[in-house]
Amino acid sequence: MKGCPFGSHRVIEPLGFLPQAARKIDNSEDLYDNEISVDVETLNVDSASFTQMREACKDDELGIAAMIIDIVNNRGKLQNPVTGSGGMLIGRVSRIGEALKDRKLEVGDRIASLVSLSLTPLKIERILKVHLEKDQVDVEGKAILFESGIYAKLPLDIPAKMALAVLDVAGAPAQVDKLVQRGMSVAILGGGGKSGVLCCYQAMKKCGDSGKVIVVEYSEENAKRIRELNLAHEVVIADATKPLEVYNKIHELTAGKLCDVVVNNVNVPNTEMSSILVTKNEGIVYFFSMATSFTRAALGAEGVGKDITMIIGNGYTKGHDELALDILRESDSIRRLFQKLYI
Ligand code: NAP
Repeated sequence: MKGCPFGSHRVIEPLGFLPQAARKIDNSEDLYDNEISVDVETLNVDSASFTQMREACKDDELGIAAMIIDIVNNRGKLQNPVTGSGGMLIGRVSRIGEALKDRKLEVGDRIASLVSLSLTPLKIERILKVHLEKDQVDVEGKAILFESGIYAKLPLDIPAKMALAVLDVAGAPAQVDKLVQRGMSVAILGGGGKSGVLCCYQAMKKCGDSGKVIVVEYSEENAKRIRELNLAHEVVIADATKPLEVYNKIHELTAGKLCDVVVNNVNVPNTEMSSILVTKNEGIVYFFSMATSFTRAALGAEGVGKDITMIIGNGYTKGHDELALDILRESDSIRRLFQKLYI
C-alpha cells in the first residue's frame, strides 16, 4: 500500500497536519510501498536544539540521552519541543518500498537524510554515545524516509561523521552562493560556527577582492579561528543579542554604508535585530538560525523603518549537498578544522 508522498499517513495527531507540524507521528517499522527504512547509526542534532538540551541537562550526557529517548517515545520523531527543530541522520538503507525500486539506491547503501529529524519517523533502541562537543549522538535505531524525503549517498572521499556535520547545514553556503555577488559587503553573524565557516568560505569566493566579508563572533576562540583561516576581511567580537553593539561596530567598519547581504548563523535566540540593523536599505537578510522568530524579525524591521528582504533559511536548495561537500574538497584548512571538530 502506498502512503502520502509527504508522509501525512503517519500523522497521529493532530490529523490533517503534515509530519513536521504534527505533535505525534507513527514510527512503526511496517513499511509502506513508497517509503525507505534506514538502520540509524548517528544523529546530528540541530545546534539550536542541542544547545537547549545541554543547558536543560547541565551538560550531563545521561540526562541528554534520557531527554532524547523521552522526546522520541512521545512524538515518534526527534523534534525538540522547545526549539521545534530536529537535525539529520546517517545510517544504512535496510528496506526499499516496492514503489521506489527504480531509485538508484540499494539495500546496504550508507546515506545521510537531508530532511529534518523533526518530521522523520524514528525509533531508538539504544543510545550508544552522546558527543557533547559535536552535537552528535550514536544510536541503534530505525528511521523511515517518505517518498518526498531527500537524502544523499555518503561520499567515499569524506569520512561519514564529517559529511554528516556538513550536510546538516548544507543549505546555508548554497544560499550564500545564490545571494552574494562580486563587490558586495556581507556580514555573517555566528560566522565561526559550523555553518558560519562554510558561509564565510562561499561569501569570500563570491564577493571577490572588491567585496568585504565581516564576521560577527561571540568568542575570542572562534574569532581567532576565522582570522587564522583567512575566511573574512574583518572579524568583530560582539554579542549578537545586543543589536546596538553590533550596529555600531559594523557602521564604523563600513563607513556607515552597512551590508548588502547579512547571514544569521547564530544558535541562540534574540539576534534578529542585530541582523536587521546592519543591513542596508533594500539589502537582504538570510535567517538560517533556527532560533529566529518571525514575529521579532517582521515587527522589528518595520519598527526601525527598514525596507529589506528577509529570507527564511530553507535548508534545501538544488545541489546544496555537493556544493557544501565541495568546500571540504577545495579547502584543506576547513577540512582539517572539521576533522578536528567532528571526527
Ligand atoms: P554552531 O556551529 O553551534 O554555530 C553557532 C555560532 O553562533 C557559534 O560560532 C557561536 O559562537 C555563535 N554564537 C552563539 N551565541 C552568539 C552571540 N550571542 N553572538 C554572536 N555569536 C554567537 O551552529 P550551526 O550548526 O552552524 O547552526 C547555526 C544555526 O543554524 C543554528 O541555529 C541551527 O539551529 C541552524 N540550522 C538551520 C538549518 C536550516 O535548515 N535553516 C539547518 C541546520 C541548522 P560560540 O561557539 O562562541 O558560542
